[in-house]
Amino acid sequence: MGSVFGRSSCYQDISVPEGLHTLAHGPRPLKVAAAGALNELVNGEVQILEEVLDEAQGVHMPIPPDGRNLFKVLADELSLGPFDGADVIATFLERCTAYDTEWDDEDEWNEQVLKVQEFLRESPGAVSGLAKAKAKQSGSAAASLAAVLLRLSHDKKTQVEVAVLPWWRRLYLPLLGYFKRLTSATLGWPQNRIPDVSSVNTRVQCAVCQNYTSQAPVVCSQCNDANYCCQEHLDADRGRHGTWCFEPRGGKDTKRATSTIAPAVSNLGRLDGIITSRPIAAS
Ligand SMILES: [Zn+2]
Ligand SMILES: [Zn+2]
Repeated sequence: MGSVFGRSSCYQDISVPEGLHTLAHGPRPLKVAAAGALNELVNGEVQILEEVLDEAQGVHMPIPPDGRNLFKVLADELSLGPFDGADVIATFLERCTAYDTEWDDEDEWNEQVLKVQEFLRESPGAVSGLAKAKAKQSGSAAASLAAVLLRLSHDKKTQVEVAVLPWWRRLYLPLLGYFKRLTSATLGWPQNRIPDVSSVNTRVQCAVCQNYTSQAPVVCSQCNDANYCCQEHLDADRGRHGTWCFEPRGGKDTKRATSTIAPAVSNLGRLDGIITSRPIAAS
């Protein structure tokens, strides 16, 4: 178990593709963990935001038969009412649509942000889903969603309003946070835990040896979204990958056809060098 204050080893390391897969297909607590991990990366990082949009557009994995893309899934989750970690998921949506006002439309990050905003505007049910989510949430989650909605409807550059807290809440919130971390560390509750992000692109690289898997990859049969160089390494990584491995919503119909592995390979190395290189240890 990790330090009470620092990042915890409670969750296994997560790769960017695994994070996106978890957001789209995993259960709520793991969605929160995946969003927490990606939130730290996506800020200003164009390639990560490209991956997010690819995921929402079904580039790697087809959109499930229910027609709900990544963003719609997250909006729907937030529409179910307040829950622990809702603000983390709302922050993810906020960061993916956050225009950097220090720069203009020509800026690479802003260009990608505008693509995401455009996609959301045109994606069926996305704006209404976000509005419903905002109505159901409060506090910082609602503030993040309000900013996203304003970006889509009025001003693409809308920033999140940072509420000025009364003094007693400024005092109380850190204490509450401390107490929660302490109890979750003692009792093993998985709140306030953010997994470490691995530098390996598990769609095109073996998580164990990091070799590129373009030649005859061994694909995880459960999520169909992780490639290995060989069966032995797939087996060796089960303990780690298993945390972030979910059958896609809609089951087998949603699984990518072998032919869609090819475009993923063309993105080979896209994520390289972005994340501080730290291989995943074989368990
Ligand atoms: Zn390998
Ligand atoms: Zn898997």
